[in-house]
Amino acid sequence: RKPVIAIDGYSSTGKSSISKIIAQKLGLVHLDTGALYRGITYFALNNCIGKDGEINLPELFSRFNEIELKFKPVNEELVMFLNGEDISKQIRSNEVSENVSLIALQKEVRDFLLDAQRKIAEKGGVIMDGRDIGTVILPNADFKFFLTASVEERTKRRFLELKNLGLDTDENTVRENLLSRDKTDSEREVAPLKQAEDAIVIDNSDFTKYETIDMILSYLKD
Ligand code: C5P
Repeated sequence: RKPVIAIDGYSSTGKSSISKIIAQKLGLVHLDTGALYRGITYFALNNCIGKDGEINLPELFSRFNEIELKFKPVNEELVMFLNGEDISKQIRSNEVSENVSLIALQKEVRDFLLDAQRKIAEKGGVIMDGRDIGTVILPNADFKFFLTASVEERTKRRFLELKNLGLDTDENTVRENLLSRDKTDSEREVAPLKQAEDAIVIDNSDFTKYETIDMILSYLKD
């Protein structure tokens, strides 16, 4: 049976890009769970804005049955679709990044996504990255990693990633957003961001993406 691997950690520590490459190397399915929370946030911003201009949470909760999130392969990449629309770029926008942690702290939202995430891991052969994979979603994962890195390094990485996507932003906005999401994600009541007791912690401030990957692979071989 192929392994089930959980990768958690702070924002922009490289969880998703690292998981994607490990999945390709080992023939695993990769699930970027952050994209699911971003997808719901995108739906809410487009469909559930109240008269006060804020997201109307009860309305969102009553419309979960209208949300179909799927990952489909496009040019060898897994791309996120919401009700048939490719939203892979939209979910990286500042607007989504600024609202996603509020959406992700709602118990209703986490419950809505829970079974789907567990089901994907049922047969093994999965690498899943997020904030609560090793603690809540897959507590029995074969391997758990928790990634951290300095704020400066993470800001640089996220800024470059957004620039490469053609999204207009600046380092200050990116840094503020990272810090505020980490804070909200760590302090929330349901499934807070924290390392599982049995997770291997890797601070990759001074590592390249490929050095982190090699380090993770070395644990998987044991
Ligand atoms: O991984 P990414 O930065 O795209 O995640 C966006 C947000 O989604 C996080 O800041 C967090 O609020 C939420 N999230 C979560 N649990 C996960 C994955 C993401 O709460 N497993």
